[in-house]
Amino acid sequence: MNLAIKTPLQSEVEPVADPLDHLFDSLFHPMGADGVYARTGLYEDVIERLAALITRHRESDTEVVRFPPVMSRAMLEKSGYLKSFPNLLGCVCGLHGSEQDINAAVSRFEKGGDWTSSLSPADLVLSPAACYPVYPIAASRGALPDGGLRFDVSADCFRREPSKILDRFQSFRMREYVCIGNHDDVATFRERWMVRAQALATDLGLTFKVDYASDPFFGRVGQMKAISQVQQSLKFELLVPLRGEDKPTACMSFNYHRDHFGLTWDIKDSDGNPAHTGCVAFGMDRLAVAMFQTHGTEVAKWPQTVRSLLAF
Ligand code: ATP
Ligand code: ZN
Ligand code: MG
Repeated sequence: MNLAIKTPLQSEVEPVADPLDHLFDSLFHPMGADGVYARTGLYEDVIERLAALITRHRESDTEVVRFPPVMSRAMLEKSGYLKSFPNLLGCVCGLHGSEQDINAAVSRFEKGGDWTSSLSPADLVLSPAACYPVYPIAASRGALPDGGLRFDVSADCFRREPSKILDRFQSFRMREYVCIGNHDDVATFRERWMVRAQALATDLGLTFKVDYASDPFFGRVGQMKAISQVQQSLKFELLVPLRGEDKPTACMSFNYHRDHFGLTWDIKDSDGNPAHTGCVAFGMDRLAVAMFQTHGTEVAKWPQTVRSLLAF
């Protein structure tokens, strides 16, 4: 009989380390939830320099709009979000009852009980992407001018996808350039940005590839939507191999929504047809993490060309 005691494999006793883990102490402070972190000055400085670089590449005639981290629930519902990503949505809720109801919930909590069963949804959701609120604003302007409209938007975004890895947060910053026009306006906008974004990534010293992509649509019907999205080339991503070639990290995406938002918000192009829309999205936190993973946490030692590009 073999009495040898089996020693557990390292992977059985503690989670396997992720190649990005070593960055945590330099870049973040824990806040008690996976994917929600306070950011250090070192990290935030790079975020700001990346944002300034993206601003320097803004095309002329682009209107700047900055959004808060929440948006109207009704507007997001109307945008069709629940059909595609219901699992990712964070909804604001609050204690909306009478004084008596609210006191009862609080005293349940004080006695160690559950107060959250008294919560009810507010008319707000946490914005899951920066561009959703811009379409109703554009719609309020009436028919589009020739050539369409371009916006520069950003928001703190939320997606309910808790994870311990440092390139998937629940709360993260998204910057986007958005084009609203006819098919050609949007197609050429997206082509210009796919070229420009690759030049930017090269100048930042990042290794990357650009590939067809699909959104993480929910459920089985969602898988079919994803296949059709790839077939129609509606989404591309700029992927940085932060942990080897396997599952590279999408740091930017180039999206063509066809006439989805034009029909939803009744936006008409200058010929009176439903507007087409597209956006290029920069995952600011992913770009910053990619920079630190690529060049190290000592920015003084980053390549001189990268340092001057970021105005260090
Ligand atoms: P992924 O496939 O990695 O989940 P996505 O397709 O959901 O990405 P988009 O909806 O295109 O991402 O969002 C635009 C950009 O926002 C992404 O390219 C990425 O850089 C960033 N982003 C998306 N989700 C997250 C997240 N959970 N944490 C950090 N950044 C994110
Ligand atoms: Zn967008
Ligand atoms: Mg996703």
